[in-house]
Amino acid sequence: IVSLDEITQQEMLGKGQFGVVYRILYQGQTYAMKQIVKQTLIRHGKINSAVLELKIMYQLDHENIMKLITHFEDENNVYLILEYIDGSNLYDILKRDTRLQETYAIHYYRQIVSTLIYLHSRPTPILHRDIKPENILITKNNAIKLADFGSANSLAKDELRFTFEGTYLFMAPEIYLNKGYTQCVDIWSLGVLLFEILAGHSPFLNKEEENSLMTHEKQTVIRENVLNVRIRFPDTFPPLARDLVRKILRLEPQDRLRLEEVLKHPWLQNAEVLEQ
Ligand code: ADP
Ligand code: MG
Ligand code: MG
Repeated sequence: IVSLDEITQQEMLGKGQFGVVYRILYQGQTYAMKQIVKQTLIRHGKINSAVLELKIMYQLDHENIMKLITHFEDENNVYLILEYIDGSNLYDILKRDTRLQETYAIHYYRQIVSTLIYLHSRPTPILHRDIKPENILITKNNAIKLADFGSANSLAKDELRFTFEGTYLFMAPEIYLNKGYTQCVDIWSLGVLLFEILAGHSPFLNKEEENSLMTHEKQTVIRENVLNVRIRFPDTFPPLARDLVRKILRLEPQDRLRLEEVLKHPWLQNAEVLEQ
């Protein structure tokens, strides 16, 4: 167990709703440190989410999931010491390039789907519940590392979750409708993600709406489009990927393509191997 005194804080790596992440040096090694302000958790009624984030991350061991090394806390904060990922995240890549080249999209998407298969096929499946570009890091070797288990939870057999959790643009219809839900919500987010990396914008909010609408107006548009599964493909969208998006983004959770079938879909078959 470490305390802040033993750590040299370097640059800030990123920021999310609950955490600020820094690159740090500890005993001569580089790590990332996610600092979560307890007061922010309390304000949002999520004091347990940090506990769950730790508990779940300690159980996971997968090459495409960011590793939690250790953690400690003081009066004001919880600190997660994480494997440092030297690279970027999909959000910043999309901001820079608008969309991914298909070869890269396929390469990353395969890894993301395989990682979700690992999470969902555990004895008690783990729902990530916050699959989106900001939480998918990409290393310099083009490996993906899934981050941010701050919304994750596990699910016993036949159990349903009800909490309104996630990010509007990526949230499945059953969450909006306050129906009980399962790990199928992650599959939905995966469909939204696929659209977004290839189109350069969300299926449920185009660039013009993004720039012109007020926050509450956006929420109304998104909700309407999600609940009607109104997907507006740009003409340039690759036809095979379009078929896959349509098979994943289904209103009824049980109609969504299973993850194993996603991997077998023709769009994912013709991947050129990227140079490492
Ligand atoms: P939050 O729960 O507040 O969203 P995240 O865990 O998603 O916090 O981290 C916020 C951002 O910090 C990420 O989007 C990513 O860019 C960066 N980040 C997080 N963990 C690491 C890491 N281990 N190495 C490098 N960058 C990281
Ligand atoms: Mg995040
Ligand atoms: Mg989070």
